[in-house]
Amino acid sequence: MDQADCVVVGAGVVGLAVARALALQGWDVLVLEAAGAIGTGTSSRNSEVIHAGIYYPQGSLKARLCVRGRELLYAYCAERHVPHRRCGKLIVATSEAQLPALRDVERRALANGVEGLAWLSRAQAQQLEPQLECLAALLSPETGIIDSHALMLALQGDLENAGGAVVFHSPVESMRVLAGGIALRTQDGTELLARTVVNAAGLGAPALAARIEGLDARHVPQAHYAKGSYFTLAGRAPFSRLVYPVPEAAGLGVHLTIDLGGQTKFGPDVEWVDRPDDLEVDPDRALGFYAEVRKYWPQLPDGALLPGYAGMRPKIHGPGEPAADFLVQGPAEHGVPGLVQLFGIESPGLTSALALGDWVAEGVLASVPSTEARSSGSRTH
Ligand SMILES: Cc1cc2nc3c(=O)[nH]c(=O)nc-3n(C[C@H](O)[C@H](O)[C@H](O)COP(=O)(O)OP(=O)(O)OC[C@H]3O[C@@H](n4cnc5c(N)ncnc54)[C@H](O)[C@@H]3O)c2cc1C
Repeated sequence: MDQADCVVVGAGVVGLAVARALALQGWDVLVLEAAGAIGTGTSSRNSEVIHAGIYYPQGSLKARLCVRGRELLYAYCAERHVPHRRCGKLIVATSEAQLPALRDVERRALANGVEGLAWLSRAQAQQLEPQLECLAALLSPETGIIDSHALMLALQGDLENAGGAVVFHSPVESMRVLAGGIALRTQDGTELLARTVVNAAGLGAPALAARIEGLDARHVPQAHYAKGSYFTLAGRAPFSRLVYPVPEAAGLGVHLTIDLGGQTKFGPDVEWVDRPDDLEVDPDRALGFYAEVRKYWPQLPDGALLPGYAGMRPKIHGPGEPAADFLVQGPAEHGVPGLVQLFGIESPGLTSALALGDWVAEGVLASVPSTEARSSGSRTH
């Protein structure tokens, strides 16, 4: 059986960021990806927003990795010329009943260490965005947008410069825990013995974990899928900042984002579905979008919303259950040496990717005995 130092399963933004961080620590890293290109999963079906770290419970991995990840991401984008813009965002209360919830959002954001927040009256908000309707708004100047594909290309470049590689068309079918490591079997029957394996398979991570012989099944979370559909706006962007309503139970509400090409899109909404590949946008959902968007942008013209695309949230909690944190399981949690599993890496996973990479490389796997390459010191980039 061929041998590998470290295998990362999945070449989405998280798998690539983890692989890069491990390669920079001196690991010989191979990324096995089922598809024929990087970032064809959830990493190319999201809002491409660099989140400030506003919404998540204090001390949660989501809160910590988002705030840290955002700092790392802005620095990385500047260093590697990844297109991005710190455009800021407004979270808006459009009814009296939403004002206490907006104050809660502000308290949570301050507790998470989000910088630069400002509470705006209706008049102050409209000075910034004349077409905006609201009773009050919370301005987050640290929120931004990013070209996520350019980010992934830069991460892949760093990985390859540090000696790592991505192997495409290599779906990992199963794994076996052996005395000398973890044996991975790909769909074509190839077997590979790895000292360490990181399961960064996104929507496929729980199913893959269930196919690891030697891993106690109680460490495998139940996968749930929450689809988010987007509608794009025909016409010019009405705002220069992102606009979000006060958040809902399972998502951030039907918000307005602008991509770096100037295209405005609305979404994602929340629809619990049974299959991770249920990615068609139902044009009839536009009706709900008009109603939601007109609460903060009454001038939205009839017929201006066109079906866009959909993304699938890799949830590990079901409808009506409390929101789950990112779940990062290492040997300390499941007892399998060298195995790291990443579950429930939904939003803000794109923002958190670099911090997640460091968390795995410097934290979860730091105790794994070093190879000769690592003991000679970590590589620079
Ligand atoms: C609608 C929506 C909007 C979002 N908006 C934002 C946002 O604005 N900002 C933000 O920070 N985050 C956002 N997110 C979250 C972010 O997109 C994800 O957290 C991130 O993309 C997850 O990356 P990943 O690498 O874990 O998963 P993926 O991108 O899904 O990558 C997993 C990869 O693993 C591969 N794979 C799966 N199974 C196997 C296997 N058995 N063998 C080999 N390869 C396999 C897949 O082909 C895929 O390429 C959003 C998510 C959604 C759904």
